[in-house]
Amino acid sequence: MSGLISKREELEAHFKRYPDVPREVILKSDMLRLGVFFTEPVTQLTEGCRTKLYGGNVFAHDIVTPDEMPRVFRVPEFIELRGGLYGLRGRLRVHSRVNTKTPYVVDVVDGAVRLCLREGERKEPIADLWPFRPEPKFWSKKFEDGTPYKELSWAEPHPIVFLMCQHWGPKEECKFCEINYTWNMTHQHGVGTLKKPYTDPQQVAEVIAEIFREERAPEDKPYGVLIDGGTITKQVAGLTENEFYLRYVEAIREKIGPTWPICVMSHPQTKEGAKRWRDAGATKQCANIEVWDKRLFGTICPGKERHIGWDNWVKRMLDEVEVFGWGNVEATFVAGVEMAQPWGFTEVRDAVRSTTSGMEYLMSHGIVPMMVVWAFYAGAALKDQVRPPLEYYVEIARNWYELLCKYRLPGPTYGVWAPRMGPGRFEMVSSAVGDMGDEPLPSQSYD
Ligand code: SF4
Repeated sequence: MSGLISKREELEAHFKRYPDVPREVILKSDMLRLGVFFTEPVTQLTEGCRTKLYGGNVFAHDIVTPDEMPRVFRVPEFIELRGGLYGLRGRLRVHSRVNTKTPYVVDVVDGAVRLCLREGERKEPIADLWPFRPEPKFWSKKFEDGTPYKELSWAEPHPIVFLMCQHWGPKEECKFCEINYTWNMTHQHGVGTLKKPYTDPQQVAEVIAEIFREERAPEDKPYGVLIDGGTITKQVAGLTENEFYLRYVEAIREKIGPTWPICVMSHPQTKEGAKRWRDAGATKQCANIEVWDKRLFGTICPGKERHIGWDNWVKRMLDEVEVFGWGNVEATFVAGVEMAQPWGFTEVRDAVRSTTSGMEYLMSHGIVPMMVVWAFYAGAALKDQVRPPLEYYVEIARNWYELLCKYRLPGPTYGVWAPRMGPGRFEMVSSAVGDMGDEPLPSQSYD
């Protein structure tokens, strides 16, 4: 049996086995597991488009290094799929996790950019693409001291304000994470130019205000702010983690006024620390537990275990719900990492059961989990692993959505994405769970 047929058969077998799960969820999950490849003609079409942000970012999220594929710097940040063989609805947004050995290839076919399934030299188009998003205007601006606006925020109001993590080295760094690799890689390749791994709060606030001022198409309009960055276990710029991130909340809130949500992604804070951020203008907090099983949390996230610990992590998240409110605390899971070997579950049903119990516990306390699909990033410690099967992601998505409805929670947004759900409507590019749910309304087909 050919590889092409077997991938199509695999997808179509999942469509049949899970009729209650949208095809968009199944395809997107598989693409995030395996990554995407972009041919040379496609990367020649990205001039003036929103390419993937490397400098000023913490996670390359590529499965190959730039040495293996130099044109990685010319790929679009995400692709938006529609139509094709499976009649994809809306705009199915999929992150560009670049991989040279994936069956999913974006190529120019008959003059149009299409998603293809590859077998050897053969490629079969399976979906069409919406045009790549234009490069935001602010990316061409610089401050007087030479700092490029582009390295202070994603195209959305998503500034990475500390570009390293003090969980450093094998005894501390989360095993799936590539943050410290990304800083080195982007500087070696000249796409990261910041001298210090942290940014100036006033400059960041000005960039965020500029994003809200920009004239943009409706689908590119900003929704809110996500202040993001690595963990601070000691100090940065003479400040603790709580004090450090507080300065950005204050500066951004002062610049943009009260209209937009602001979320901070960090360790869960003590109740007093969370209140400081809330009083300064933060409306949400995201504390990434990554993996629910307590033993695996200690193994896969040794720095988090050492400095906070699983019990304290969970307690603090619950405390934060009292500060920010029901549905305003989120928690990323690296979905599937609980099957990392030699420590993790070997059976899909055990992994699904463990993670579902964590989702239910958190949701029953007003916390919204964001299930990001695990991939083997080039700079992470966990590389040579066996991927959890597609079935795992489909079952997690289905359980997640059932629980979200059961506990009457809003969909996850990280504060920066619009809270829209349904096939081809979810804006988060690294997770397919929000593509569950209702079909798009005719008025939201974006034609
Ligand atoms: S806390 Fe873990 S996942 Fe977060 S940046 Fe540090 S090493 Fe990466």
